[in-house]
Amino acid sequence: MSVTQENERIQKAFGWAARDSSGILSPFHFTRRVNGDNDITMKILYCGICHSDLHCITNEFGISQYPIVPGHEFVGVVTQVGCKVEKFKVGDKAAVGTMVDSCGTCNSCQVDLENYCTNVIFTYTLFEAGGTKTYGGYSDIIVVEEHFAVRFPENLSPAGGAPLLCAGITVYSPMKYFGLSEPGKHLGVVGLGGLGHLAVKFGKAFGMKVTVISTSPGKKEEAIDRLGADSFVVSRDMQQMQAAVGTLDGIIDTVSAPHPLNAMIDLLKHDGKLIMLGAPDLEKPVELSLLPLLLGRKLIAGSISGGMKETQEMIDFAGKHNITADVEVIPMDYVNTAMKRLAKGDVRYRFVIDIGNTLESLD
Ligand code: NAP
Ligand code: ZN
Repeated sequence: MSVTQENERIQKAFGWAARDSSGILSPFHFTRRVNGDNDITMKILYCGICHSDLHCITNEFGISQYPIVPGHEFVGVVTQVGCKVEKFKVGDKAAVGTMVDSCGTCNSCQVDLENYCTNVIFTYTLFEAGGTKTYGGYSDIIVVEEHFAVRFPENLSPAGGAPLLCAGITVYSPMKYFGLSEPGKHLGVVGLGGLGHLAVKFGKAFGMKVTVISTSPGKKEEAIDRLGADSFVVSRDMQQMQAAVGTLDGIIDTVSAPHPLNAMIDLLKHDGKLIMLGAPDLEKPVELSLLPLLLGRKLIAGSISGGMKETQEMIDFAGKHNITADVEVIPMDYVNTAMKRLAKGDVRYRFVIDIGNTLESLD
C-alpha cells in the first residue's frame, strides 16, 4: 500500500501515554483509523481513571508494552457516523467502556457476553494482540464500531457518568448474575473506592441492605450518610469483623491489593457468594482455606466488566435512578499527581479527567 493510500485510512489523534514502567504520562501523537461504515467518531469529553490504568502503566502485571494510552471509561460527543450506523447521530452523547471489538461469532459473543470472548480487543491493549494495539480514552478522539458504544442518558452528568462504563458495569454485572440485586438481601462491599462506592449505590437502588467492609475508618460517615450504606465494618478491627460473621448473602470484593479472603468468607451466610473483582497480582495464587467454603456451601467467583447489551441496561438503570460516581474532576496535566494519590487511596471516589476542556490546549 502506498503512503498516500495509507494516509487516507488514518486520522491524527492526540493523547497522553506512559512510555515505561515509571507510569509517568506525557503528551503523545498517534493515529486512529478513519470512520468506517459501522463506526462512530467521538470527541472525548470526560474519562475516568480506573485503578486498572495504574496497574497497567506501572507494569504490575509484567506484560505491558509501551507506549500505553490508558482510559476505558469515557463519555463524548459523536462527531461522525458511518453510513450503516443506526444508534447514533452527530451531536449525540455516547460512551465507551473496556472493549472496542470482539469476534462476534463465538459462544460468548452470541449471548451478548463480548467481554468473555477470547478474541476481545480491549479499549487499550498492553501489547499488540493479533497485530492490534489500541489506545484508550486519555485522548482527544476515538473511532469505534457503534456496537461498542452505548447511548448516554441525557439526565446524567457526563463527568459523573464516565466511571459507569468500567466501574459501574463491573459491579452491576456480577450483582445481577449472582442474584445480588434482590431487594432485602444483604450485600457486603469490600473496598470503598471507585468500584466499591458504585456497588453501594447500585445495591441501595436495588433495595438491598448494604454493609461496607473497609480498611479506612475515616470513610464510615460518608459511606452511611452520603452513599446510603446501612452499616460499616472496619476489616482490621477483629471485634467488628466477629460481630458481622454469617450476616451477608453476598460480597462484592473490589480491593486492589492482595488481602486475606477467609475473613471475608466467614462473613457470608450459608450459600453466600464472594465475588472477586480486584486484579492486584494476576500471577500470585491467593491463599485460601477451603473448609469454610465446604461448611457453608459457599461460592467464590470472579467477573470482568460486562457485555454491551448489559452495559446499556446498566446505564439506563443509572439514568433512571440518577446514579453517578462521586468524582474529582481534574485537568489533563494533573494526571500524574492523580495517579500518585490513587496509589495511596487518596480519592473520593474517582478521578475523572476533563479531556474536552484541558487536553487540546496542551497540544
Ligand atoms: P480504587 O478506587 O483504588 O479502590 C480500591 C479500594 O481497595 C481502596 O479504596 C481501598 O478501600 C481498598 N484497598 C486498597 N488497598 C488495600 C489493601 N492493601 N488491603 C485492603 N483494602 C485495600 O480501585 P478501583 O478502581 O475501584 O479498582 C479496584 C480493583 O478492581 C483494582 O484492582 C482494579 O484493577 C480492579 N478492576 C477490575 C475490573 C474487572 O472487570 N474485574 C474492572 C475495573 C477494575 P478502603 O479504603 O475502603 O479499604
Ligand atoms: Zn477499569
